Amino acid sequence: MDTIFTKIIKGEIPCYKIAENDKFFAFLDINPLAKGHTLVVPKLQVDYIFKLEDEMLAEMMVFAKRIAAAIEANVPCERIGIAVIGLEVPHTHIHLVPINKVGDLNFANPKCKLSEEEFKEIAAKIAQSVKL
Ligand code: AMP
Repeated sequence: MDTIFTKIIKGEIPCYKIAENDKFFAFLDINPLAKGHTLVVPKLQVDYIFKLEDEMLAEMMVFAKRIAAAIEANVPCERIGIAVIGLEVPHTHIHLVPINKVGDLNFANPKCKLSEEEFKEIAAKIAQSVKL
C-alpha cells in the first residue's frame, strides 16, 4: 500500500515541493516546527531509515545536505537541525529544521502556523536556491 509520502511523490496528494532527483524528494512539513521545516524522503518506499541500503542512505544524506544549504540561504538561523522520528509516517524521512537553540528541535514544541501563502512563498524561495 502506498504511504502518504509515496502519494505525494506520485503527485496524488498536493505538497509544497522543494526539489527532487531520480531517488529523493523534498517538500515542506505541513505541521512545521519552524518556517522552512522540510522533509527529505526516498522515492523507494522503505519504512525505516536504517533499513536503507548503505549506498542509498549515504546518497540521501548528500541530497539532504543540498536541501539544507538552500533552507539556510533563505531562513535566518544558526543551524539546520536534522532529526529522524518516523513514528507517524512509515516511510523513511529526514526532518530538516532551522534552529537557533537546542530546544527548537523538540518535536513536543507547539507547531508553527503558516498560511497557504506563507507556505508557498517559503517553498518557492528555498526551491529556487537548491543546487543538486
Ligand atoms: P514522524 O513520522 O513522526 O517523523 O512525523 C511525520 C511528519 O510528517 C510530521 O512532522 C508531519 O507534520 C509530516 N506530515 C504528515 N503528513 C504530511 C503531508 N501530507 N505533507 C507534509 N508533511 C506531512
